[in-house]
Amino acid sequence: MTTLNTQCRLAARPIGLPKTTDWQIVREPLPEPGDGQIVVEVDYLSIDPAMRTWMNAGRSYVPPVQIGEVMRAFGVGHVIDSRDGGFAAGDVVSGPFGVQRYAVTSGAAVTSVDPALAPAPVHLGALGISGLTAYFGLLDIGKPAPGQTVLVSGAAGSVGSIVGQIARIKGARAIGIAGGEEKCRWLVEEVGFDAAIDYRTADLRAELKTHAPDGIDVFFDNVGGAALEAGLNRLARGARVVLCGAVSQYNAAPRGPANYMQLLVARATMTGFVIFDYAERYPEGVAQLAEWLRTGELRAQEDIVHGEVGDFPETLLELFNGRNLGKLILALKPH
Ligand code: NAP
Repeated sequence: MTTLNTQCRLAARPIGLPKTTDWQIVREPLPEPGDGQIVVEVDYLSIDPAMRTWMNAGRSYVPPVQIGEVMRAFGVGHVIDSRDGGFAAGDVVSGPFGVQRYAVTSGAAVTSVDPALAPAPVHLGALGISGLTAYFGLLDIGKPAPGQTVLVSGAAGSVGSIVGQIARIKGARAIGIAGGEEKCRWLVEEVGFDAAIDYRTADLRAELKTHAPDGIDVFFDNVGGAALEAGLNRLARGARVVLCGAVSQYNAAPRGPANYMQLLVARATMTGFVIFDYAERYPEGVAQLAEWLRTGELRAQEDIVHGEVGDFPETLLELFNGRNLGKLILALKPH
């Protein structure tokens, strides 16, 4: 019997927030796997702000998704057919499967997932790219010392909530910036941040003065724009700014910080990084993050939307209106 696959393809390059017409949902027969290939039924799709940047033409750290191509996405799924001796039907795997129900892919392109370590969605969040980004970005670039102050923007999101927790594990103070009272309360009362500032209502500059009287030693920026400028204004001498992302700029023409000279004033560094460059060290990061989850020092938070491949366009928008708490995942309904 022929299996029908459902795919979400890029139909047009968006201007501003992606619209329904920027996507095409296609149903077509699934091809047979060749030698060395496996067929994966995708169970969970990672929904990432970076997806918006992958839709743009132009120079970036990965090639743009082409018009007509299946949207790039990481996922977790299970093998249903294998022509690769290293995998058997039923194995749980993660990889860049794309926004589709089934992926026919090279066995070499996927990673085995140990379901005993944590439930499958956690392998896209705290034990996936988000956790690794927080771990290597904060520890390798931010290098917080005990007693220092770490500021995190996008703090109630997938990466940000883990950054603050690792800062605390390392003996630093964690201050978060997030949208809304509820998220800020969650960060302080449940996640363990020392303070959280609601950027939608607060005077960021005044609040940072209150919560970081001696300045910010590490600023892990996920947001850019106004949050970046407010953080730069409060840097301590020798501060490290970790440029992780700029979600506030992804649907607009990006604007740089007008006050970048604050880097000079503070003798600070600002370093961009891309997590894929740490691929060889992923096992080290996963082992440490898994250990912190096991001991309860780290809390994983997933925000799971249940739906179909066709629900992807709508789900992606949740990241830009801030509806998610922790790692946003689209769980594809079982057949
Ligand atoms: P996330 O934080 O879970 O979700 C995005 C959050 O951004 C939303 O919940 C929303 O929270 C906030 N946001 C959206 N639009 C905003 C705006 N206009 N102004 C201020 N805040 C806004 O996403 P994530 O997966 O953890 O990613 C966080 C950042 O890390 C992104 O910039 C992403 O591109 C980056 N990243 C970088 C790497 C790397 O290798 N460098 C790897 C992974 C992720 P509020 O409700 O608080 O506004």
